[in-house]
Amino acid sequence: MLAAFSNLYVSKSAIAPQATCAAASAATGRPLEKGMSLSGWLQGVRSDPLLDYRSAAELPASAGVIIIGSGITGVTTAYELLNSADPPKSIVLLEAREFCSGATGRNAGHCKPDQYRGFSSYQKKFGTEQAMKVAMTSRACALELDVATTDELAALGAKNWEAFKAAGGKTDHIEYITDPEEAVKRSRVRSAKAVWSWDASTLYPWKFAAHIARICLQRGLHLQTWIPVLSVTPTNGGAWSVETERGSIIAPTIVHATNAYAGALLPDMAHMVTPTPHMCNRVIPPRAWSGGNALQNSYGVLVPGGALYSINPTQGGQGIVLFGGSNPAQHKLHEYVDAHPGSRTDDGLANFAPVTQAVEDFIKSDFEGWDTDYAPGEGPDYAWSGIIGMSADGVPFVGAVPGRPGQWICAGHSGHGMARCFTFAPGLVRLLQGGTWADTSLPDVYELTPERVEALRPKKKSTGIDAWGSI
Ligand SMILES: Cc1cc2nc3c(=O)[nH]c(=O)nc-3n(C[C@H](O)[C@H](O)[C@H](O)COP(=O)(O)OP(=O)(O)OC[C@H]3O[C@@H](n4cnc5c(N)ncnc54)[C@H](O)[C@@H]3O)c2cc1C
Repeated sequence: MLAAFSNLYVSKSAIAPQATCAAASAATGRPLEKGMSLSGWLQGVRSDPLLDYRSAAELPASAGVIIIGSGITGVTTAYELLNSADPPKSIVLLEAREFCSGATGRNAGHCKPDQYRGFSSYQKKFGTEQAMKVAMTSRACALELDVATTDELAALGAKNWEAFKAAGGKTDHIEYITDPEEAVKRSRVRSAKAVWSWDASTLYPWKFAAHIARICLQRGLHLQTWIPVLSVTPTNGGAWSVETERGSIIAPTIVHATNAYAGALLPDMAHMVTPTPHMCNRVIPPRAWSGGNALQNSYGVLVPGGALYSINPTQGGQGIVLFGGSNPAQHKLHEYVDAHPGSRTDDGLANFAPVTQAVEDFIKSDFEGWDTDYAPGEGPDYAWSGIIGMSADGVPFVGAVPGRPGQWICAGHSGHGMARCFTFAPGLVRLLQGGTWADTSLPDVYELTPERVEALRPKKKSTGIDAWGSI
């Protein structure tokens, strides 16, 4: 199959720095204007009018709130605002490209709480109370299996599990299988040594975001796709002017839901959120792993070197299996990106052969009877990229943008975000409406403060909590 990927690397876009906001760091930029890859999710909705929807031919001159970005953060924030006791007079949502064509429209479709897994790392860094809050601020909306594939990983998982329990973490909803034979039987992963199983969900992220957006449109949201925001500048009256190639809109309140691209509009934050491409591989299961024998659960398979395969056998009878997560060959993609800084925001990247090879290696070694001598139409058929917003200290940034009163942000989700947004958006809306941080119920370590901006200034990269918080 890999013969199909004759080039190490295929990109439809030029590997060159794209047009960025003048003041932004070279490591960041706006979404790629031309040549973005189509994720499997975006491929599946080509005739949906929401992709390039505009509520009106012209932009309004002003708005109560402008939200920049139509991913899960942008749409859940609009939803929470519209459902609040005191909704703004008008909300405009601006999206640079197709509706939800950022990370939300490109991930592997996992929506799962972090639970015990990243607990020890967070505990070491932020203390027990905050670590517990981080573990519990995700919401799950089928069964997720975390699988440790070596004795060392099983021991490390056990340590995390015990630390989480000792700190008062709720575990009664998690089944923990320590017998390796049973672990293999339950997970169907040949090298399984231990399994943790709990409720999580997988979804069609684009359709999920679209559903929320459609509810918001019915309630008055003004959506404009294909409007990249070029800058946000102060007005004489104390409001903000959002500049675009199709005119400007004035609003007192701006929400940056731009995640990986946050630094392009907020250069002071460019050192805090680093755009980082990740791959998602689509694999069509062969006959022996189809029908009654198809994969039923979603997985986080922990493999040596801190890597993890997130596996999602898509729902709705499709059963196409998506492999995401921090694939063991992800570092090769990082090396490529380090050598080509302009590719940091290039989601035109596709079919990165080392990552696909690692997926194939895993399937061969761990899925018994999965015949890799594929018939036509079976096997790995496509891998797309998405841009993750890596946080400089491993946790997201939520709150008021320092020095820009009226501007708010929720960004830097690293490899998470899908489950967390259901607590972020209500929290952010409470802040927007005059509440205090305590009203948000979010971990203190998420709050964007001037001190955090300063403390992170010299640091360029994440400090060790892996994108998926793996053990
Ligand atoms: C391959 C992959 C696998 C992943 N797997 C998981 C997982 O298993 N679990 C999980 O929880 N998370 C996962 N993630 C991360 C998750 O998808 C993100 O954290 C989440 O979708 C972030 O949502 P968001 O709305 O904040 O950002 P995005 O969905 O990226 O939305 C930001 C939007 O802002 C727009 N925008 C940016 N700049 C501008 C501008 N100047 N003007 C106008 N619009 C602008 C962008 O076009 C984009 O649509 C994965 C991500 C990828 C790429």
